Amino acid sequence: MAKADPGVDAILDQLDAFLHTKQLKLTSQRRQIVDKILAMPRHFTADDLVDSFVGERPRVSKATVYRALSLLAEGGILETHDFGEGHRLFELSIGRSHHDHLCCTKCGKIIEFFSEEMEVMQDRIAEKLGFHATSHSQKIYGMCRDCWRAAKR
Ligand SMILES: [Zn+2]
Ligand SMILES: [Zn+2]
Repeated sequence: MAKADPGVDAILDQLDAFLHTKQLKLTSQRRQIVDKILAMPRHFTADDLVDSFVGERPRVSKATVYRALSLLAEGGILETHDFGEGHRLFELSIGRSHHDHLCCTKCGKIIEFFSEEMEVMQDRIAEKLGFHATSHSQKIYGMCRDCWRAAKR
């Protein structure tokens, strides 16, 4: 699971190329935001990222962070996960291989997993239904070990 994190250069290159197609520039603020993202936990919310700028100079506004996040998602640099009830998480997709998620509905913990059998099974199901699958996002909801233990007490 401990894969080397993607280098900041690889991310900035991809972001720069994407921004170019939108006739936007890789501003120092956008660079700053990418640096922050690299220091974030694997799955983070927009507000986690906004909070990481508190007390920092120059100040990066919430609107700038939000706008950068949607650009990064649009450019395929970030993946967006909707875990329901407005619980939206971002995750870097560059340099990371495909995986799915277990989501604790009690504490919000996200656990990653990868199952070859499940991947094959999903492709088989799609094929059987004459469906051409391009991607998928598997989410299993429930309680993590700690929350489950606490709930049983
Ligand atoms: Zn939990
Ligand atoms: Zn993940």
